[in-house]
Formats: sequence, structure tokens, C-alpha cells
Amino acid sequence: MSPDPAEKRVAFVTGASRGIGKAISLSQAQQGRHVVLVSRSEGPLSEVKSLIEESGGSASVRAVDVSDAAALKDAVEGVIEEFGRLDVVVNNAGVTRDGLVMRMSDEDFETVIQTNLMSAFITCRSAARAMMKHRFGRIVNIASTSGVVGNPGQANYAASKAGLIGLTKSLARELGGKGVTANVIAPGFVETDMTAALGDAIRSKVTEAMAIKRLGKPEDIADAVSYVASEGAGYLTGQVICVDGGLTMC
Ligand code: NAP
Repeated sequence: MSPDPAEKRVAFVTGASRGIGKAISLSQAQQGRHVVLVSRSEGPLSEVKSLIEESGGSASVRAVDVSDAAALKDAVEGVIEEFGRLDVVVNNAGVTRDGLVMRMSDEDFETVIQTNLMSAFITCRSAARAMMKHRFGRIVNIASTSGVVGNPGQANYAASKAGLIGLTKSLARELGGKGVTANVIAPGFVETDMTAALGDAIRSKVTEAMAIKRLGKPEDIADAVSYVASEGAGYLTGQVICVDGGLTMC
């Protein structure tokens, strides 16, 4: 028999409509969490919700643009009000606006920081009190190896992801005494819409540089999230785990 929904842990996953966030949502649901699926449009989220329900899990949908700080705050607070808890937050929604620094517009810099970094600050700040009250929380921020080693053409993206690392380590130190952990998963190259435009030459160059000679699958990232968000990972905090097939070994 599945657990009483009122007793289920609740996971809030941004960017849940496709790619890595969809895989994370499916795996969190498989682990018995009620998953709150967040991204901009309701249609694709409802499809993920149906997939979860078909496999016996439970989920709900919140169509929110995470770059809208007020709307995101309302969404997190609404979940805490509805369920009386928020146990897991996965900040996964992310965008790129690539270009060399010399040609990068203020707008492309700001959009990426607002969507990838500011949103994580908002969700973590909004969720922290409820997590501390229940003396349990798992914050998982999805960064990128670009945020650790940099990447030409991605100064805005790398800055947002490096910022996520600093945010996460600080949260880990602030909340660790209350049973709340905060960790970063930093993917390398994963087969999703985000990397779909990469040409064959770049793909084979990157794959050749990897210890494990293939691009990542969304499920490779979801498996790592699954561990850091698990009940058993209570002593792991402030870590950056690069899931990149051994590309950077950072
Ligand atoms: P993706 O396939 O492009 O999916 C991005 C997700 O973020 C979608 O669900 C999208 O939903 C959502 N999203 C984007 N902007 C949003 C906004 N303003 N508000 C709400 N949701 C928004 O990307 P992905 O490859 O799965 O990437 C997921 C995360 O992993 C990102 O943070 C990315 O930086 C990171 N990452 C990916 C790779 C890779 O190789 N793929 C490598 C390193 C790190 P809607 O468009 O429906 O709103």
C-alpha cells in the first residue's frame, strides 16, 4: 500500500517539464515523495504528472517563471501552506545565453543570473524556515562543471553556476545544525534540449576527453540527486559533486 499522502515527504523541483528536471521528478516520485513540478507552462508539466501517477506516485503542477521572484516566493509558500511541509528543494531550472564577454549584452548576463541563481536564493530562503522547523531538509542545486572550471562563451552561465556553489556552501553552514543539508550536483554534458544544438565535432571532442566515453543521460544526474536528497545522506553537506563522466574530475 502506498503511504498516506499527508505523511509523504514533499519535493519541489524546478525545470521539471523536460530533460534533467523531468528525470529528477520521476525518480523523486519513485522514492515515495510527492513532487511539486515547476516550470513555465502547465501542459508539459501535466504530462510529467500523468507519468508519475501512472506509476503509482503523486505530483502537483505549478506553472511559474522562476525569474519572477515574487511569483516563485508565492509558489514555495503556497506549497508549505498546502502540505504543511517542504522537505526537498531541487533548483534545476536553467537557461543559457552564450556569447563572448566582449559581445555579451547586459540583458543576456542578467537573464541568466536571474533565472539560474536568483531563483535558487528565493526558493531556499522561502523553504528554509519550514525545513528547520521539521529538522529535515535536502537542498540540491544543479550547477554545471562550467561553474567550477569556466567555459569560453559562457561567462554569464558560469558565473550563475559558480554563484550557486557559493550559495550552497553558505546554506550548508547556516542550516547544517538543524538537519538541513545543501549540496551541488554539477553535470558535464547531458543529452537534453540544452545540448541538442551541439555539432558532431564538439560532441566527439568532448566524448573523447571523458573517462566514460559517452555524454550523460538525464537519469545519470537524477541518480546522483537521488542520493544527496535521500534520508541516508544526512552527513553529506556543502559538497560539489561533478557528474560528468570523468571529463573534469573536479
Ligand atoms: P533543458 O532541457 O533546456 O530544460 C530546462 C528546464 O528549465 C525546462 O524544464 C524549462 O521549462 C525550465 N526553465 C527554463 N527557464 C525557466 C524559467 N524562467 N522558469 C521556469 N522554468 C524554466 O535543460 P537541461 O539540460 O535539462 O538542464 C537542467 C539543468 O541542468 C540546468 O540548470 C542546466 O544549466 C543544468 N546543466 C545541464 C547540462 C547539460 O548538458 N544538459 C550540463 C550542465 C548543467 P520551460 O521551458 O517549460 O519553462
